[in-house]
Amino acid sequence: MEVVPGLHWVERIWDTKVYLLFEGDRLIIVDAATPGRAGAVWRHLDSLGYPPGAVDEIWITHGDVDHMGSVAALKGGSGAQVVAHRADVSLVDGSANRAVRSVFRYQPTLVDRPVEDGDDLGGWQVVHTPGHTPGSVSFYHPERKVILVGDALNHRRHRLGAPPPMFTPDMAQAHASIDRIAALDFEICCFGHGPPLTNDAAQRVRAFAKSLSL
Ligand SMILES: [Zn+2]
Repeated sequence: MEVVPGLHWVERIWDTKVYLLFEGDRLIIVDAATPGRAGAVWRHLDSLGYPPGAVDEIWITHGDVDHMGSVAALKGGSGAQVVAHRADVSLVDGSANRAVRSVFRYQPTLVDRPVEDGDDLGGWQVVHTPGHTPGSVSFYHPERKVILVGDALNHRRHRLGAPPPMFTPDMAQAHASIDRIAALDFEICCFGHGPPLTNDAAQRVRAFAKSLSL
């Protein structure tokens, strides 16, 4: 489904949103859902007229298995470069938590480009929004006025939410990250869970951030 021109989310993946992003002549996949989802991504790309080899980069918002589960298959099928924040590299490449590999059958993958706050990904800025994981990031394009926040915020049942405390080691940091997102200027906000907000998204996020601080 098209969110705005040049930004789609992949249908038939219900657990976590996977986005397809066109930036200039580059094609980028944002997040890799749970294991076993590469086929759905390829089918969606095919419906847009692109083969797997057309994908240049795979950006991971954070190293949870529901956001990186199919990264090995997506990288293997496309030869794309994997981008993730430095602090979550050990989750993506499997060196941090080997239990994830066996419990979720996660296949680890090397990160080709570790990034940090303020890095420029060709028009897109890396905004470090930790708390849910140490290396959680948002991808922000000031001119396109789009931000993809991963799990720094979610949008379920028409309501914005902070990441769930049970799965968030540092809630104070998670709230500070929401404040940081709220300070940015954007129209469209895309979440790891729940439908995108496609107009006046920043205003909604600001109101939510304010409600957290009350
Ligand atoms: Zn998630």
